[in-house]
Amino acid sequence: MKTLTVSVVTPDGPVMEDTYDMVVCRAENGELGILPEHIPLVAPLDIGDVRLKRGNDTDHLAVNGGFLEVRPDKVTILAQSAEKPSDIDVTRAEHAKERAEQRLQSHQDHIDFQRAELALKRAMNRLNVSKF
Ligand code: ATP
Repeated sequence: MKTLTVSVVTPDGPVMEDTYDMVVCRAENGELGILPEHIPLVAPLDIGDVRLKRGNDTDHLAVNGGFLEVRPDKVTILAQSAEKPSDIDVTRAEHAKERAEQRLQSHQDHIDFQRAELALKRAMNRLNVSKF
C-alpha cells in the first residue's frame, strides 16, 4: 500500500517527519483528507488538530495556521507553531485561555478583540489536542 511522507516545519525548526496512510486537517475553507497520490495542492491551514493516520493509529498535532503543500507522495505543513500532545504545556494553555477570555469580556477595540479570539482558538486547540 502506498504511503505519504509527512513533514512538519515551524520557524523553530522541524517538528516531525514520518510516513502515514492519510492526513486529515482543517484548511481555511473546510476539512481536507489527503491520501497518497492526491493531486498537487497548496492550501492555507486553520488553527486545528492535524490527524495523521497509520493503520488503526492516529497521531495528533496542534497546528496554528500556516500552509499545507501536497504532492502525490508527500505532505508538507509549514506552520507558525505545531505541537505533539506530549509537548503541550496544559497549564500554559489554560492561562492563555483565561487571558483571552478576560480580554474578550472587556471592551477593547476591534484589533484586540480579533487577537484575543485567535489566542482563545489556539489555547482551546492545544487543550483539545493535549488529551490524545
Ligand atoms: P502564550 O500566550 O502562552 O504564549 P500563544 O498562543 O500566544 O500562547 P504562540 O504564539 O502560538 O503562543 O506560540 C509561541 C511558541 O510557544 C510556539 O513555539 C509554540 O509552539 C509555543 N507554545 C505556545 N503555547 C504552548 C503550550 N501550551 N505548550 C507548548 N508550547 C506552546
